[in-house]
Amino acid sequence: MIKKGDFKKYKIATIGSHSALQILKGAKDEGFQTICVCEKGKTKPYTSYKVADEIIEIDSFQHFFKIEKELMARNAIVIPHGSFVSYLGWERVQQLKCLHYGTKAILEWESNRTKERQWLTSAGLNQPDIFQHPEDIDRAVIVKFHGAKGGLGYFIANNPNEFYERMKDYPHEKDYTIQEYIVGVPVYTHYFYSRLTEELEIMSFDKRYESNADSIGRIAAKDQLDVGIKTSYTITGNIPLVVRESLLPDLFGMGERVVKASQAVCKGGLFGPFCLEMIIDKDLKFYVFEISARIVAGTNLYINGSPYTDLRYGEPMSTGRRVARDIKQAIEAGQMEKVLG
Ligand code: ATP
Repeated sequence: MIKKGDFKKYKIATIGSHSALQILKGAKDEGFQTICVCEKGKTKPYTSYKVADEIIEIDSFQHFFKIEKELMARNAIVIPHGSFVSYLGWERVQQLKCLHYGTKAILEWESNRTKERQWLTSAGLNQPDIFQHPEDIDRAVIVKFHGAKGGLGYFIANNPNEFYERMKDYPHEKDYTIQEYIVGVPVYTHYFYSRLTEELEIMSFDKRYESNADSIGRIAAKDQLDVGIKTSYTITGNIPLVVRESLLPDLFGMGERVVKASQAVCKGGLFGPFCLEMIIDKDLKFYVFEISARIVAGTNLYINGSPYTDLRYGEPMSTGRRVARDIKQAIEAGQMEKVLG
């Protein structure tokens, strides 16, 4: 039996990938013992950076369920991140029996594009238009393949002919979305919502470094045409960003509405870290094209805190550390149910 308030009886665990360094470092900063579940032969970052008090090795993350009992025996609270959700799949995450930070059911709403759109629409967020049929393409569109990792293979088309021409490269691909292409700058807003404080925070922002979308400006338009460059969006890294301060009120409002709307779509609603991925156009209009309902890798830029967390905390506060603090405060307040889902 664990005493209320004794957070040291719990450990923080995650799988060794994505944002695990940040999550485990943040947990240690808050005084937790940490466990990193690694694939065999991939432990080096977690030992070298000294973020893991214990390492459990498995052949493949797909076999996570084999070590679940070990985690439960250690009172480990598992923090999901992008790789965790992608390796296990949102359906298998629902079957976890170990302590899990975050509402599991919300993962279905972020993974299913129809549900995601319904959720964002109910939150009153502006989104790029969707074209159901290629014949309807009447402006620039971006074609996205579902399950594409990090924007790989996405392409731009301006009319039905261009669409069919480009689709010749993907003869077997049936699962895609045709979305209005927004001319503007991508902004990834990293939020945090605590059910303990019932407050929404903006932790930080990033923009992505995508190949070859971010390299095209380095050569003249004529050369781009001559060598037949086709834009693609393979993510290679993240770049830090601060936004124009006058945009902040709207960005806070959008995050708050997404949290409120989540409470209507699934029991427990969205809490913890999440990210709204948007394009901001020349009229400063926001177009949200995706939500990630867990920590995003762009927060790795701010292991030592961001300009925004510095304003609020005055000490290094990464998103990973904010998660650990939420858990610690919940345990100390005897309200652990507010961080589990
Ligand atoms: P996933 O998170 O599902 O792995 P992803 O987040 O990498 O995919 P998207 O975020 O959907 O893929 O898009 C990748 C990139 O494409 C974005 O960073 C942005 O630069 C660009 N992009 C996406 N949608 C639009 C749009 N509607 N208009 C203009 N650019 C877009």
